[in-house]
Amino acid sequence: MRRLEGKIAIVTGAVRGIGASVARLFVQEGAAVMLTDMRDELGSALAAELGSQAAYTHLDVGEEAEWAAVLELTHRRFGAPTILVNNAGIFRTEPIESLSMQAYMEVIRTNQIGVFLGMRSCIAPMREVGGGAIVNISSVQGLEGMRNGLAYCASKFAVTGMTRTAAIELAKYRIRVNSVHPGPIATSLVAEAHGTSDIATATAHEPGVPMKRWGQPEEIAGLVLYLASEESSYSTGSAFLADGGLTAGLM
Ligand code: NDP
Repeated sequence: MRRLEGKIAIVTGAVRGIGASVARLFVQEGAAVMLTDMRDELGSALAAELGSQAAYTHLDVGEEAEWAAVLELTHRRFGAPTILVNNAGIFRTEPIESLSMQAYMEVIRTNQIGVFLGMRSCIAPMREVGGGAIVNISSVQGLEGMRNGLAYCASKFAVTGMTRTAAIELAKYRIRVNSVHPGPIATSLVAEAHGTSDIATATAHEPGVPMKRWGQPEEIAGLVLYLASEESSYSTGSAFLADGGLTAGLM
């Protein structure tokens, strides 16, 4: 028996990095997956590669009306979603003294408001089918501060808090809500923060964690799978780390 047999999942930011790994693993484990992102060409190609258990549709997670359309489409194509992975995110750094309101709001809109809209949109369909699992991708920066990361930390701490609050409110509907807190993971998000599109170049140096290596997107996908599946049936409102030991203590 595969671990997500018969489940229907929506994954945001699903065309690359952690989101793409999650989508691949979910399909392998028997779920039908609605991949969403804003890179439509890549998204359609990935869905085609994953086969009939996958579909792609455009979603800017900060757009309320687009969430309604995604829910409608998912329902028509596969049925009511039982899993939501709020993964889409952007990373920006800027010293607080020069951080503009516009730059701050851009990060909050995607990383924080996107998670709020995603969770709210999925409550009714999950209730309809007797429950579900929501996995919100936060960060170690949702638990610890970071130099020049004010907007990013604000948004990721918000995800940690919203996860706990939603878990308390939604437990009565058998909807579990947990957050995942990755450390440094070798993806395009990191490469672009280093001013390159080449992930290997951007992650050639040691990331300064006890395990002395970068994590891979698949290593986060495994944790997300656990939280989306029945194996984590007694976990809700919890923060799960996968950070190579980064937050264990001072090196
Ligand atoms: P990637 O940039 O590789 O993938 C994220 C995807 O989300 C991209 O395709 C991106 O599109 C998309 N996206 C961005 N904004 C939106 C939006 N408004 N609506 C829909 N999709 C959007 O990132 P990662 O895989 O590295 O990150 C995934 C999640 O993990 C993020 O929430 C990130 O904050 C978190 N994380 C990542 C860490 C890391 O070290 N990589 C560490 C800790 C947490 P586009 O390319 O156009 O921006």
